[in-house]
Amino acid sequence: MHTFEFIRPADAAAAIGTAAQARTAQQGADVRFLGGGTTLLDLMKLNVETPSRVLDINRFPFDKIDDTSDGGLTIGATVRNSDLANHARVLRDYAVLSQAILSGASGQIRNMATTAGNLVQRTRCVYFRDTAMPCNKREPGSGCPAITGANRTLAILGTSDKCIATNPSDMCVAMAALEAVIHVQGPKGTRTVPFGDFHLLPGDTPERETVLEPGDLITQVTLPPPIARSKQVYLKLRDRASYEFALASAAAVMTVDGGKVSYIRIAMGGVGSKPWRMPEAEAALAGKPANAASFQQAAEAALRDAKPQSENQFKIELAKRCLVHTLQTAVNA
Ligand SMILES: Cc1cc2nc3c(=O)[nH]c(=O)nc-3n(C[C@H](O)[C@H](O)[C@H](O)COP(=O)(O)OP(=O)(O)OC[C@H]3O[C@@H](n4cnc5c(N)ncnc54)[C@H](O)[C@@H]3O)c2cc1C
Ligand code: SF4
Repeated sequence: MHTFEFIRPADAAAAIGTAAQARTAQQGADVRFLGGGTTLLDLMKLNVETPSRVLDINRFPFDKIDDTSDGGLTIGATVRNSDLANHARVLRDYAVLSQAILSGASGQIRNMATTAGNLVQRTRCVYFRDTAMPCNKREPGSGCPAITGANRTLAILGTSDKCIATNPSDMCVAMAALEAVIHVQGPKGTRTVPFGDFHLLPGDTPERETVLEPGDLITQVTLPPPIARSKQVYLKLRDRASYEFALASAAAVMTVDGGKVSYIRIAMGGVGSKPWRMPEAEAALAGKPANAASFQQAAEAALRDAKPQSENQFKIELAKRCLVHTLQTAVNA
């Protein structure tokens, strides 16, 4: 049985110092921070994650949501998903984020899950979670059985011949559309990472999922000031209505002036190897009439580079319809 040391560091600096001793902050890390534990402890029970030290960060002062001086919002790393989704300013100014979080997992899990933990949650690819099977993400060089195996739920954008896993997060899709910024404190000081740069494509190193280095602790996420008069919608399509991950989802933040799209940010989930921002669809929509024809053109542009696997060709059409319906719902909101 895997054994580990459970540590409650005195403060963030002590936690960072200990975590900096790890060989990597990615798959195989022998030191892990513990948020709500809803991903980490599951994977430890499956022996997919086998850290020798687990550092509880829940007592650090990262559990607040505050206004920023420019009118944006700062969200502490240990803010629970439930508290974030139900926060008055999130409901009023960043509704897409609230909708996305509430579409995920269950009430009990959202009560435990933290903002940072959600950002770093792992794929649900069945081979990744089964140590009896090869998996390049879990064991680099061992192979990717999903490419010829069970890949119905996996990615059609941003894949490589080493890994076709989907990023499972709903929250991250909304944060991508809201252009959030992730704040990291590490052994070399603090830095900020634009949301789109935080998750990595699998390429030849699928075991490396984010830009985090040993010792890097996510301290908060900031949202820019809200877009005035924006309509915000998150739509999630899945096999059953609750407690299920997205087959395709879309987040849209849009303003319409004089019948034309004047501001648009789009991201999709369930289809990409990372939370998938859609610049092609945004470019196709900017300045165009906010109608079904424009939305269809945007959806075509968004999925143009999709590469389906043996079992998930259906995701291309599903994702297009998901995006069109999301945009239509936003216009009518
Ligand atoms: C049954 C089930 C159904 C689910 N359904 C959905 C769903 O539909 N949609 C969805 O989006 N999610 C879903 N989830 C996933 C859930 O959202 C995540 O498990 C949760 O967000 C992870 O947060 P946590 O705080 O529990 O993370 P933890 O398990 O504590 O940590 C996860 C990872 O983040 C790292 N970490 C934690 N905090 C920090 C930090 N401050 N800095 C750096 N690294 C950190 C940990 O070391 C670990 O590697 C589901 C989970 C379960 C168990
Ligand atoms: S898709 Fe990625 S996570 Fe799944 S088996 Fe292949 S390498 Fe592993």
